Amino acid sequence: MSHAPLRQNLDPRDLLDLDAELSDEERLLRDTVRRFVGDKVLPDVADWFDRGVFPREMAQEFGRLGVLGMHLEGYGCAGTSATAYGLACLELEAGDSGARSFVSVQGSLAMFPIWAFGSEEHKQTWLPRMAAGEAIGCFGLTEPDSGSDPSSMRTTARVDASGDWILDGAKRWSTNGSIADVAVVWARTDPDGPDRGAVRGFVVPTDTPGFSAPVIHRKVSLRASVTSELVLDGVRLPASAALPGVTGMRGPLSCLNEARFGILFGACGAARACYEAALDYSLERVQFGKPIASFQLTQRRLVEMAIAVNRATLLALHLGRKKDAGTLATPHVSVGKLDNVRMALDVAREARSLLGANGITLEYPVIRHMTNLESVYTYEGTNEIHTLILGNAITGIPAFG
Ligand code: FAD
Repeated sequence: MSHAPLRQNLDPRDLLDLDAELSDEERLLRDTVRRFVGDKVLPDVADWFDRGVFPREMAQEFGRLGVLGMHLEGYGCAGTSATAYGLACLELEAGDSGARSFVSVQGSLAMFPIWAFGSEEHKQTWLPRMAAGEAIGCFGLTEPDSGSDPSSMRTTARVDASGDWILDGAKRWSTNGSIADVAVVWARTDPDGPDRGAVRGFVVPTDTPGFSAPVIHRKVSLRASVTSELVLDGVRLPASAALPGVTGMRGPLSCLNEARFGILFGACGAARACYEAALDYSLERVQFGKPIASFQLTQRRLVEMAIAVNRATLLALHLGRKKDAGTLATPHVSVGKLDNVRMALDVAREARSLLGANGITLEYPVIRHMTNLESVYTYEGTNEIHTLILGNAITGIPAFG
């Protein structure tokens, strides 16, 4: 055991020295993504948020950065570790949850199912272009009447006399939907058909007749992200459009696990940005003749935020190492998604309040993160759903329905 005297100082932006836990390669990647966010996201994101847009050109910027499908191997993807992917999500979400959502949906919800379950033709057609950001993907699972319980979906896929698939139905809340070139759509097959009513995934080029993707307007959260309906009105697809490698809910659920993993890192980025904004603000803002950071109550708020952000980041790194070691279980992902997003929302609300009236303007990043995190809290499994997954894992008793 070392008896060396303990160091007295710490880095207020890295309370637990987590930087030292990263390899040189991970640190380089982290710094590269952080610089990209500083150069290409932060200068404009408040404006995108204000106008409710996400510029399509950003797709190719992300492609050049190498973060699209970065955790996948081959087909133009970078093939990094899971932890490296997580760190990229963290830095992107320190910019905006919309930027991280774009990258999560593209890599984990659209590219991943094609990579894991697609035919060689699907992979060759889509993955290199998607990795480069030349083609954009979206994921259609949620429907107007089917959210937390996606197996209740009503979108149907039937085989007609010619052997083609015909898709009918409506998906809702599809990130990137209106700007997508390809949609991975999950639909219930005919109970009398060869798949006996099982859910199948379909690779749907968005210029297929009968497919449309109207934008969902008037959002007050995740405004720098495109969210859409997907309308499938007799969409005719060749037999080869179905993902051959998976049948049943395992398909969409495995994609969600990939995306949730990115989110449990990303939430730490949004929370870190809020904490740092609150720290900087409290050192500059003077009331009662002193910086507000000099009041004990303010210090307590900052300390609670700093501990929360660092503890969550430690959890994310732990889960990242487990994923890379092949020992990560689905309920582990639920621990991270549930606790880290909850933490991020708490930190964002505290930071918002610490900034006083300035906390409600887009001049500071905090309220943008705070409202974004309301979506992050809901998508990819609400807190209740992750609680139920964990309750089931702990007790062995499913309590979903
Ligand atoms: P509901 O399922 O109706 O839930 C409403 C409330 O009831 C929640 O609080 C929930 O926790 C609670 N609840 C539900 N069931 C239970 C239960 N058994 N026990 C206790 N409480 C319960 N979907 C996609 O397919 N693709 C996307 O790209 C996508 N992007 C999205 C982007 C945004 C900005 C948002 C907001 C959503 C997105 N979604 C996407 C949809 C998202 O995954 C769903 O909103 C989410 O699964 C919750 O479904 P719901 O909104 O229908 O809520």
